[in-house]
Amino acid sequence: MKYISTRGLSPALSFSEILLGGLAPDGGLYMPEAYPQFSAADLSAMRGMNYRDLAYTILSRLVDDIPAADLRDIVDRTYRAEVYAFARPGQNAEDITPTLELEQGLYLLSLSNGPTLAFKDMAMQLLGNLFEYVLAKKGETTNILGATSGDTGSAAEYAMRGKQGVNVFMLSPHQKMSRFQTAQMFSLQDENIHNIAVRGVFDDCQDIVKAVSNDHQFKANHKIGAVNSINWARVAAQVVYYFKGYFAVTSDNSQKVSFAVPSGNFGNVCAGHVARMMGLPVDKLVVATNENDVLDEFFRTGVYRPRGSANTYHTSSPSMDISKASNFERFVFDLVGRDGAKVRELWSKVDAGGAFDLNADGWFAKVADYGFVSGSSNHAHRMQTIKQTQAQYGVTIDTHTADGLKVALEHRSADTPMLVLETALPAKFEDAIVEALGHKPQRPASLEGLEQLPQRFEVMDADTDAIKAFIVAHIE
Ligand SMILES: *Cc1c(COP(=O)(O)O)cnc(C)c1O
Repeated sequence: MKYISTRGLSPALSFSEILLGGLAPDGGLYMPEAYPQFSAADLSAMRGMNYRDLAYTILSRLVDDIPAADLRDIVDRTYRAEVYAFARPGQNAEDITPTLELEQGLYLLSLSNGPTLAFKDMAMQLLGNLFEYVLAKKGETTNILGATSGDTGSAAEYAMRGKQGVNVFMLSPHQKMSRFQTAQMFSLQDENIHNIAVRGVFDDCQDIVKAVSNDHQFKANHKIGAVNSINWARVAAQVVYYFKGYFAVTSDNSQKVSFAVPSGNFGNVCAGHVARMMGLPVDKLVVATNENDVLDEFFRTGVYRPRGSANTYHTSSPSMDISKASNFERFVFDLVGRDGAKVRELWSKVDAGGAFDLNADGWFAKVADYGFVSGSSNHAHRMQTIKQTQAQYGVTIDTHTADGLKVALEHRSADTPMLVLETALPAKFEDAIVEALGHKPQRPASLEGLEQLPQRFEVMDADTDAIKAFIVAHIE
């Protein structure tokens, strides 16, 4: 299995060769050169598998340059009940991504039972173990530099803490994350984790990361890496829970299910697309956005019109406040018949700050063949959905999951089970829950007092040179 670029101008590489990098040299994203196929017989064999066996079965078809026993060991160390410990009462943590039935045919697929209470742990924990393994094989080290406004940074830190050969430098806007998110990150005492609180906003943090990445000399000299959302291994890891969710709510392979996915960068739902392409019987993939609705606009109209960060709304589902969906190019590559020249043409418009329209040449008409539908949600919808879900089912959901559920209900059909992907636990977004329900959500007992733990972080100005100097001082 080789990986090719969506822009068609980069050499094909193996899984381990693309693991540590970001974009392909031609600016594209890596995709498998062909999707491995699971037959009906394969699906039957996979149906009774636990998460680890399922993950190994799927990942071994996507990774062919890690010896089987080693991949098996990496998977077994990653997907343990002790790591995904925050299952709800009545759920079995051994399921790793257990389901919760709200009513007949309507389920939550719990992806947020990992250490940072958000779905990004599902992929990031695997990435941590893969990075450590591949770096050791190559005799290399990496210094991960990232910017975060919450979920990504904490998931990366919890995945990379204590890993050999990896340092993490995570920039976050000083005093702009929630107390819970801040405490989650800053309470880590691991030597290889460096929290830098930047006096500024998230965009300042991101600008510094870009400036450092554009300094190719510095980047090479100091082995600067990233764990951004376009990393293929993250998408691959996420494919697994679509299969797990499917088997949990069906009894044979003639049945189809639909998934509703709270979306921002299109990474999560892209994995659903890949699962479908590999043979999973998926009816609809429901793309749910918040007020930042570029993806909903595309799936309704065929026009993809990313917006600049100045036109991004700050919402109560903040991890979806994204107006340029970095993984969307992967789906468009498939949609346009894997024509790299076409993708280059489309993204030359996007990269110049423009839009593209797929109606003219008939591509948009094909979107339905892939099962995609969409919708958007706003603050009032979220509050209403959280209230309603509490009243009707006695279940507290977070704001992102509420966006997913709201849009799911608009696309539900009578005899197809609908799984709403739960992308964060409500404890992570206390203020919004208090606003919706008038009381705080329950917090897992082991996280009581999190905000009182000693914190380890450095406050710095939004000054690229100073931050470069800090990095250099802490890796040598
Ligand atoms: C990252 C995130 C999302 C969006 O996922 P994408 O892969 O970027 O589409 C949704 N909800 C939560 C809680 C997240 O952390």
